[in-house]
Amino acid sequence: MQVCSTSAPLDLAVIGGGAAGFFAAIRYAELRRERGEKPHVLILEQSSQALGKVLISGGGRCNLTHACFDPAELVQHYPRGTRELHSAFSRFQPADTIEWFQQRGVSLKTEADGRIFPVSDSAQEIVNCLLKSAARAGVQVWLRCAVAAIQYTPGANIPFTLHLRAHKNDPGMPGTLHARQVLLATGGSPGGMRLAESLGHTLQPPVPSLFTFRINDPRLMGLAGVSIPTVGLQLLDGAKPPAGQAGELQLGALLITHWGLSGPAVLRLSAWAARWLHANHYQAVLQINWIYPQDLNQALATLHAQRTGAARSQQVVSRPQAFTALPQRLWRRLVEAAGIPSQQRWADLSKDLLRRLALELVAGRYPLQGKAAFKDEFVTCGGVSLKEVDFQRMHSHLMPGLYFAGEVLDIDGLTGGFNFQNAWTTAWIAATAAAQA
Ligand SMILES: Cc1cc2nc3c(=O)[nH]c(=O)nc-3n(C[C@H](O)[C@H](O)[C@H](O)COP(=O)(O)OP(=O)(O)OC[C@H]3O[C@@H](n4cnc5c(N)ncnc54)[C@H](O)[C@@H]3O)c2cc1C
Repeated sequence: MQVCSTSAPLDLAVIGGGAAGFFAAIRYAELRRERGEKPHVLILEQSSQALGKVLISGGGRCNLTHACFDPAELVQHYPRGTRELHSAFSRFQPADTIEWFQQRGVSLKTEADGRIFPVSDSAQEIVNCLLKSAARAGVQVWLRCAVAAIQYTPGANIPFTLHLRAHKNDPGMPGTLHARQVLLATGGSPGGMRLAESLGHTLQPPVPSLFTFRINDPRLMGLAGVSIPTVGLQLLDGAKPPAGQAGELQLGALLITHWGLSGPAVLRLSAWAARWLHANHYQAVLQINWIYPQDLNQALATLHAQRTGAARSQQVVSRPQAFTALPQRLWRRLVEAAGIPSQQRWADLSKDLLRRLALELVAGRYPLQGKAAFKDEFVTCGGVSLKEVDFQRMHSHLMPGLYFAGEVLDIDGLTGGFNFQNAWTTAWIAATAAAQA
């Protein structure tokens, strides 16, 4: 990494060497170079490695964006930031991300579910591309250099003073730096959020998003690895769904794991209900419709038809044709859970047991015991309050010269490349505005 001279003040100090910090620094430097200027831009990164999260993202493959090109549809993948990102995506969206990386020699591919990865399946290629682009644009990077405090002097020509906390192995690092403009791109780290707070910004309390559910239920025991293509999931608070987005039905594939449940439907629910679940200490009841889109009446009708049409000797434990999407082992568990004896034949199934089975199929209730990490992706819900940010420029409403980008903001997306797209978009807008300021 290059070391910059510290005597001259910085045009732009970028705090945080992650996806948003690098993308912004590159855009800012390139814009000013196009105008024949030589900007002084520095990324300050507290860890010993830049772009650490990019490197481990998407299981090492980096799912850098999503093939969703309509801003109105794209914003539906952001539990927080839906309204504010709409105009931002009309300026820089996944099509622009694709073009940006392709122009720099990265070949991309779109998977069947819309996720976009480098053809190489290597996050290192994305890291290399960003490092190379930064070096080419003259962006300087300091590693192992945390910004401990930011001071603002109103009316000063160079209003920002950054107080640095250098690593013990870098005794030559200066204690302070001066900058005309500052971009806060510190991700979900508590230290970065404290910096925003010290400058007068309000924080929405950070809580985890994108996690899986711990459920210890006999119906799921020994079924780890079983998946169902489409289920409907809903949280219950007592007998009713909680108010607002936490109580909405979420659809998608479900995976039974050793510790409970995972898969796209669970991750989606964890994101939309992140705040409510945190407030409830992750204690709630999960209602599962295993045969979505069938409802109770349709399930009853299907089961009645099965009872009438089944061969005289056919037992209920052998899964009927109508439910082939349900793995046989899971079917057997649901039959047991409905209290149906293993020898029970369809023809003699009582009305009461038939109804209990229908309820297990469309409204099985599973108490949550907590959350578990989702290793492929994890984001923070919460951060700098969006009310205090001008989304035309990603600029602070409270302090001239202060910009925000990425996860430090109270924005988070579902899995699928949406979180990086937020980083690219907000960084691009912030840098464009800073270069024009
Ligand atoms: C395991 C994992 C996999 C993921 N996979 C994907 C994926 O495939 N697709 C996707 O869209 N999203 C993915 N995400 C989410 C995505 O990585 C983040 O949303 C994205 O990295 C946010 O970028 P950022 O630049 O805002 O923050 P970060 O990438 O977190 O970068 C912030 C940087 O700021 C530094 N910093 C913090 N405070 C200071 C300070 N005071 N001084 C100096 N430096 C500081 C931090 O060390 C960090 O390097 C994944 C997340 C995880 C954890």
